Amino acid sequence: MIRTKRDGGRIPDAEIDWVIDAYTRGAVADEQMAALAMAILLNGMERAELSRWTAAMIASGERLDLSAVSRPTTDKHSTGGVGDKITLPLAPLVASLGAAVPQLSGRGLGHTGGTLDKLESIRGWRAQLSNADFVEQLNTVGAVICAAGDGLAPADRKLYALRDVTGTVEAIPLIASSIMSKKIAEGSAALVLDVKVGSGAFMKNLADARRLAETMVELGTAAGTNTVALLTDMDTPLGRTAGNALEVAESVEVLSGGGPADVVELTVALASEMLAGVGITDVDPAAALADGRAMDVWRRMIAAQGGDPDAPLPRAAERHVLTAPASGTLTRLDAYGVGVAAWRLGAGRARKEDPVSAGAGVVMLAKPGDQVTAGQPLLELHTDEPSRFDRAIEALAGSFDIDQAGTFTHLPLVLDRVTG
Ligand code: URA
Repeated sequence: MIRTKRDGGRIPDAEIDWVIDAYTRGAVADEQMAALAMAILLNGMERAELSRWTAAMIASGERLDLSAVSRPTTDKHSTGGVGDKITLPLAPLVASLGAAVPQLSGRGLGHTGGTLDKLESIRGWRAQLSNADFVEQLNTVGAVICAAGDGLAPADRKLYALRDVTGTVEAIPLIASSIMSKKIAEGSAALVLDVKVGSGAFMKNLADARRLAETMVELGTAAGTNTVALLTDMDTPLGRTAGNALEVAESVEVLSGGGPADVVELTVALASEMLAGVGITDVDPAAALADGRAMDVWRRMIAAQGGDPDAPLPRAAERHVLTAPASGTLTRLDAYGVGVAAWRLGAGRARKEDPVSAGAGVVMLAKPGDQVTAGQPLLELHTDEPSRFDRAIEALAGSFDIDQAGTFTHLPLVLDRVTG
């Protein structure tokens, strides 16, 4: 099989079924699966081959049964970015407008943050729910954000960890099958994919992001899930914070009717798509953020999982401010640089068993398009361990430009929409 893929051939269906099952059981060694993943990264997969690979990943575990959920179910998945806290305001917002959101999320690895790490900065909140509690909360509150149980696409859990350490994450067929196997097994009726494009994303250019989006939409549609994708900018971080508790605080601002304009814009755009996917079109998501309906669901959603929505969020012990070296317009603030800085400050983990710091991260006091004057605070770094500052500052060197001529054009946040 490794040789077939290495030489550009198609893996026969029965062999795909076998290798996914055997790898999940531990009968295929990591080094062999790593070689196969690299051959797939280099030579790609045909459509039918990918669809069989995805089906085998789904079949490695259970499929959730959401038939007892009384409202239509709709979910969103982001391919991962910096400052991407959208799930936090989005899930309660969509629930406040009549749909149920069964959101199984992950933890961060590398420079991108994970939704569960963010929510765990809320005192008492727990990520683990039984399948019965999951369905119950969907019926009573309308939104659940929790950890995927071990039974859901276990092949992906193992394969993703292997890809992470073998340079094989950035393969379109492997990303598509990884995300879609989990989302199809989760069983929501509709799915909106937020495919990130830019320096802070896995896909660095629009053409690759479009191919990934088209591939995932095709897999979802073929499986009977009403799937659309938005291609959205990730050259600069979303909002003004990157880091766990910092992002929760910013999400609460959005749920209070305020918050940064880009976070509000994307939350509303994704909410409209998620609701339209289950036929709910006569609603105004922006109004539900402004009038507190989404906030009410947020509070109930956090409390239902043991969290105290009124508890003060953890704050890092130490801060360091980076100032503008010149006056002018901030024309670039690089998402990857900010993501790596937040990670090095303690917001992310290098190995999946590492703990994260709830308070660590970066606050962006200026965003592209803002006028700054020399000496003005630009970025505030937060950490519990001051020894981490130097490496974080290194990550930010060359990550922003200030143009004294002052020319800057805002590019759209939503770059395109892909449907089946
Ligand atoms: N997120 C996933 O779940 N899988 C990937 O392969 C990449 C991002």
